[in-house]
Amino acid sequence: MQHVTLNNGVRMPLLGFGVYQIPPDQTEQAVTDALAAGYRLLDTAAAYGNEEAVGRAVKNSGIPREELFVTTKLWVQDAPAEDNTRRAFEISLTKLGLDHIDLYLMHQPFGDVYGQWRAMEDLHREGLAKAIGVANFYPDRLIDLILNNKIVPAVNQIETHPFFQRTDYQDLMREHGVRHQSWGGFAEGKNDLFTNPLLAEIGKEYDKSVAQVVLRWLTQRGVIAIPKSVRAERMAENIDVFDFALTDEQMAAIATLDTGGTLFFDHHDPAMVDWLAKRRVG
Ligand code: NAP
Repeated sequence: MQHVTLNNGVRMPLLGFGVYQIPPDQTEQAVTDALAAGYRLLDTAAAYGNEEAVGRAVKNSGIPREELFVTTKLWVQDAPAEDNTRRAFEISLTKLGLDHIDLYLMHQPFGDVYGQWRAMEDLHREGLAKAIGVANFYPDRLIDLILNNKIVPAVNQIETHPFFQRTDYQDLMREHGVRHQSWGGFAEGKNDLFTNPLLAEIGKEYDKSVAQVVLRWLTQRGVIAIPKSVRAERMAENIDVFDFALTDEQMAAIATLDTGGTLFFDHHDPAMVDWLAKRRVG
């Protein structure tokens, strides 16, 4: 597995396993299968409702803690954000059965972002979160957070797939030392991604699937990918992407698929902000 070094020196696998939308009663098995397939980066969130199941799979795997990289995420907190952020972190830690988190992300750029970030900075200084970062931050919010706080986010986890590629944003993040991580790398199959003719044609040259071409394209760009699957054979397929390389011409051809817009949530849509910010995670 290839790794990247984050802006604070922490090493993170370039490819991992995401558990969004895996029901809690299927998550332990899915994570057990993913660990057996070789994944060492696990991506969950308080809002996914499956941290306990992830924790059970980790514990039962017997894999030494230092070989694993566990990410979880803070949901939007009520005021006072500092107190509630620490409380939310402790709940996640307990559910996961861990004594530290490798990467703690602010899940949404909403609520008292500054209060939440200050509390996350404290958790990092105390060694409880080895790295801290954000998710779903558009460039304006990210730069504001960087300029007005002490710790630069190690990672920004954002929607990134062939139809929304974020290359200019990746350049900006690189300038500031923020590592680009993709969520929804397959666009959850939207726009018929898995039968896309261009991606399928490229895959044929290497005897690789569309999914493998997409993950190779992301990781070749230096973007951390966390594909989700509940099927062991797909987990094995999705991690098998480091034995081929796309040419510059193929990277340029894939660039033409970019539509420049979200296929999921528009974080600038007031109705979406209202919906996300009012959702509460216990
Ligand atoms: P995704 O990885 O883009 O797509 C998952 C879908 O692709 C599932 O329907 C899966 O079906 C299918 N699939 C997986 N491998 C396949 C293969 N080789 N061939 C064909 N189909 C395949 O979707 P995602 O779960 O939304 O995103 C990945 C991770 O990013 C999440 O799990 C989560 O950890 C993170 N995420 C974060 C945010 C955020 O706000 N920070 C938002 C969304 C997601 P099966 O399961 O049936 O195989």
